[in-house]
Amino acid sequence: MFSSRAAARQLVRHIKRWQHSSNQPTLNSVTSDDIAHFAQFLPQNSILSTLSPIPVAPSELEQYNTDWMGKYRGSSTTVLRPHTTDQISKIMKWCNQRRIGVVPQGGNTGLVGGSVPTSNELILSLNNMSKVRSFDPVSGALVADAGCILEALTEYITPHNHIMPLDLGAKGSCQIGGNISTNAGGLRLLRYGSLHGSVLGLEVVLPDGTILDNLSTLRKDNTGYDLKQLFIGAEGTLGVVTGVSILTPAAPRAVNNMILALPTFENVLPLFKLARRHLSEILSAFELIDRTAYELAVKHGQGKGLSDEEIEGAQCFVLLETSGGKKEHDEEKLNILLETLLESDSPLINTGVLSQSPAQFSSLWKLREGVTEAVSKEGKAYKYDISIPLASFKEVVDATREQLRRKGLLHENAVKHVLGYGHVGDGNLHLNIVAAAYTPEIEAALEPFVYELVASYKGSISAEHGIGAMKTHAMHYSKSGVAIDLMKRIKHVFDPHGIMNPGKVLE
Ligand SMILES: Cc1cc2nc3c(=O)[nH]c(=O)nc-3n(C[C@H](O)[C@H](O)[C@H](O)COP(=O)(O)OP(=O)(O)OC[C@H]3O[C@@H](n4cnc5c(N)ncnc54)[C@H](O)[C@@H]3O)c2cc1C
Repeated sequence: MFSSRAAARQLVRHIKRWQHSSNQPTLNSVTSDDIAHFAQFLPQNSILSTLSPIPVAPSELEQYNTDWMGKYRGSSTTVLRPHTTDQISKIMKWCNQRRIGVVPQGGNTGLVGGSVPTSNELILSLNNMSKVRSFDPVSGALVADAGCILEALTEYITPHNHIMPLDLGAKGSCQIGGNISTNAGGLRLLRYGSLHGSVLGLEVVLPDGTILDNLSTLRKDNTGYDLKQLFIGAEGTLGVVTGVSILTPAAPRAVNNMILALPTFENVLPLFKLARRHLSEILSAFELIDRTAYELAVKHGQGKGLSDEEIEGAQCFVLLETSGGKKEHDEEKLNILLETLLESDSPLINTGVLSQSPAQFSSLWKLREGVTEAVSKEGKAYKYDISIPLASFKEVVDATREQLRRKGLLHENAVKHVLGYGHVGDGNLHLNIVAAAYTPEIEAALEPFVYELVASYKGSISAEHGIGAMKTHAMHYSKSGVAIDLMKRIKHVFDPHGIMNPGKVLE
């Protein structure tokens, strides 16, 4: 007998996880003999292991074993940090023969527990693979090692007047290989589309050590199946991405942004329509921050957008960016939009501020980009990164808050805030529940509640963060049994022994 439905659900989840782990192949742990083998072709400082002749303390592996949120923890004894594709090939060949699980790790900024081991798998860090291989300023094709930090690539191509086709709050730490492996969306997707469009080619080391050199710089290539697409968003379950060829757009000559305070969430959709009509091709970002998210960003020092008077009566905020050819021309369009918004009989906004300097431009962006960090400073966040029709964003946030209230969990010692922000222009909401601590009671109140809610809108339970370890059991809310079965068969073709990132994406 169960004392409550929540307890019953918890037990079901526990059984599912047990079944899930029993579905996984039996893998071997790393031994000191394996370390001796790796030492034959890796420099000593590329091996961090508690099993080495000169062992590291387990605390030195903590940063690799723990995810960005501090929610997922592995117990790996060994981190390898190779410098070349050839070294990675040798590592994979050995691990495949020995049936050792391998977790590829980039900047470890992922938000679904995909980048850390579920047990004691070997961690393969791409930190030392950080060279730009080539850049063609005419086509904009950039070829780089997978371990290059996104921001470093931006800095590399800025003097050539190009920009990366993606941008995200974690740009100072995340790696291009991690971005591709998660199919990261971010702040520029509205303008430049997804990585499925801008990645031209990949170099991948397959689980058996084979190097798949698909590092094309061609815009067009219709010779057979487009294999690179399989690795975009595979979250390290099919192979290790070691090299990336990506199309970088020419930098816009003028960028502007403005923040708008809206009296009610209902105005977001009409505002988006109006902004698209007025700004057409120069609209490059349309981001939502609800009131709670805004206040947390300001509280934790992530920039400041509007004065206290200006935010009075605002239910949410929109950060809008334009990227165009002529500053004055773009500013004029923005000013006309602002005037139209303010002068209407029933204005969609309370007020708006157009940035007047590069410093103010950055400060407005910091406010939006800083929400993720502010949330992590405020408490422990349950993060749901969902795609749903724009008109339903607020309903989903409100329904989740109500669910937690019903369960008696909406108070300072349990759930402190329920908030929503995200890439509205892409139909992507980040629903965050900020708690004092991660607890089974809160998780039981949220899951499967949130997934069922998303499914009722025919949405996706992962818009851009991926499945990782967090959502393997919930994939069926967004994908059919036929699709999941095909994915399992593809996985088996690439990785018949199940050594690549076990316990992630597929149960
Ligand atoms: C402040 C903040 C803001 C963020 N904003 C966004 C956002 O706007 N949009 C968005 O989509 N995400 C966002 N994220 C999530 C995260 O930054 C992205 O998922 C990012 O792409 C992960 O890159 P990484 O190098 O840190 O990868 P990791 O976290 O190290 O790994 C992520 C997954 O990819 C696999 N992987 C990593 N490198 C490789 C490789 N070379 N080969 C094969 N598999 C690999 C890992 O095994 C893991 O499954 C944000 C995170 C933070 C902390």
